[in-house]
Amino acid sequence: MAAVAMDGKALAARLKEEIRQQVEQMPVKPGLAVVLVGEDPASRVYVRGRKKDCTLCGIYSEEYILPQETSQEELLDLIDLLNGREDIDGILVQFPLPDHLDNRVVQLAIRPDKDVDCVHPASMGYIVLGEESLRPCTPSGVMRLLSEYGIDPTGKHCVVVGRSNIVGKPQAMMMLWEDATVTVCHTKTVDLAGECRRADILITAAGQRGLITGDMVKEGAVVIDIAVNRDENGQLCGDAVYDQVAEKASYITPVPGGVGPVTRAMLMENTFLAARRHGK
Ligand code: NAP
Repeated sequence: MAAVAMDGKALAARLKEEIRQQVEQMPVKPGLAVVLVGEDPASRVYVRGRKKDCTLCGIYSEEYILPQETSQEELLDLIDLLNGREDIDGILVQFPLPDHLDNRVVQLAIRPDKDVDCVHPASMGYIVLGEESLRPCTPSGVMRLLSEYGIDPTGKHCVVVGRSNIVGKPQAMMMLWEDATVTVCHTKTVDLAGECRRADILITAAGQRGLITGDMVKEGAVVIDIAVNRDENGQLCGDAVYDQVAEKASYITPVPGGVGPVTRAMLMENTFLAARRHGK
């Protein structure tokens, strides 16, 4: 079987256009503040990308690129200010922060209703409870891709490789709420290949190039590759050995062009939803 490559770029473009049209109707525009501490070039590219998305969707945006030596107090003061501003609906702080700053304290400082990146523990709590809330962008993007391609998780066996707080755990929980039977794998999983072979839907977010080979995939499985790695030529790639896995799978997300663009669109959607909840 040759898998259908799931087109995240096309879906993201459509979602952003839909958000743009809805934002156009709003008397007051949604606002997003992106905060970056330090000079990491990759993070700067990320911040520029978010600004571009905001412009496209008609969302007002501000970027704060703070020096590496910013103190915890200074960062908390900024978050406090942004929390209180009516024109800012979403606050995205780029994690991890430099070592002298406490990630958890900063995450707790972001008002949950402005937590568009879902880093506050309350955001995770709402997902576990299945209550309406902002949802972390990457797992939400995966759910959108599945629904776009008519893939219903109900009753399916879903294997999630990775248990990070921002990707693997919320992904597993969101699949559970969609009535999948979920297995979560990690570095201490004894038989990763065997677990993966049982998956109707295999979602991998390990960040390990070459981890998922063709023999680990059931014929006809859906393979969602969240990971972003570099191959030996410096090109972006996922966890799956694409050609091998695409031979067995029914659907597969390419890297790049699969989950990544939809994740970006979900940040725009979260900002829009936060603004709606703020009465805009
Ligand atoms: P992370 O915090 O490093 O978590 C990686 C998880 O994978 C951990 O739970 C780890 O297990 C597990 N893992 C690592 N190697 C494994 C192996 N050999 N076998 C089984 N499990 C293994 O990373 P993350 O933040 O979740 O991100 C994961 C990947 O997704 C990265 O490549 C990242 O760049 C990518 N990502 C992409 C997007 C997007 O929009 N496309 C967004 C976010 C992240 P332990 O818990 O046992 O260590």
